[in-house]
Amino acid sequence: MQTRPAICRKKARYSSEAEALGVAERAPFILRPYRCGLCRGFHLTSRTKGMRVPDFERKRRRNNA
Ligand SMILES: [Zn+2]
Repeated sequence: MQTRPAICRKKARYSSEAEALGVAERAPFILRPYRCGLCRGFHLTSRTKGMRVPDFERKRRRNNA
């Protein structure tokens, strides 16, 4: 995913995907971590198109089904 510099600066940055996933899991809405090409860190996005479904979300869906 392409991130514009202004977006990168504004967003919270996580040093690992696991850390970003932990935050996404606790969020009251859908968030996906992605690797930023600018800062090499991880950001969260609410855009889910083309994103891998995280494990915690897959489990949640299974429990709700
Ligand atoms: Zn960034």
